[in-house]
Amino acid sequence: MTQRGLLIVLSGPSGVGKGTVRKAIFEDDGVDFRYSISATTRKPRVGEVDGQDYFFVTREQFEEKIQAGDMLEYAEYVGNYYGTPRSFIDETLASGRDVFLEIDVQGALQVKTKMPEGVYIFLTPPDIKNLRSRLEGRGTDSPEVIDQRVEAAKDELKKMINYNYAVENDIVERAVDRIKAIITAERLKVSRV
Ligand code: 5GP
Repeated sequence: MTQRGLLIVLSGPSGVGKGTVRKAIFEDDGVDFRYSISATTRKPRVGEVDGQDYFFVTREQFEEKIQAGDMLEYAEYVGNYYGTPRSFIDETLASGRDVFLEIDVQGALQVKTKMPEGVYIFLTPPDIKNLRSRLEGRGTDSPEVIDQRVEAAKDELKKMINYNYAVENDIVERAVDRIKAIITAERLKVSRV
């Protein structure tokens, strides 16, 4: 029987750089795990591609998916829904391949209650001031939305205790290396080999 794939969940406060770290991980041609593309009702940012960065859907479409039980987890974050389609994860793990999720803290904790065997990695900001300047530097959100994101982040930092690993995002390459080291170690666990 094929051994089930490993579920790897990268999470942490918004603005900590999860998206940047995730993109850097997947830039490596040698990556041998699959990325779970989320669905969202947020409007695409410049350069974002439907079906690659997210599945961009309407609120009605998203709510239908919730009703149909198609979402492994979902969260409402700063006025938009974000969620993880269930079928891709189930099928990929069953085929023996590992799946990588990059989701917010509310979502990660929902996934953990359903799939406690996953590997939960919390990306931490070097400090909260730094988080605000990153959000400002990105230039994509209004000052009110930035305030809401920073408040959400302070709350989310308290949830780190629920994760298996904490990785500081001081330098992206370093965070990427640490995450790859975690995945390698998890794959080598005696319980898996
Ligand atoms: P952004 O709008 O910056 O792309 O994402 C906002 C937040 O939603 C980020 O913290 C991101 O990690 C999170 N997010 C992205 N996809 C999902 C998902 O499928 N589920 C949940 N719960 N959060 C997600």
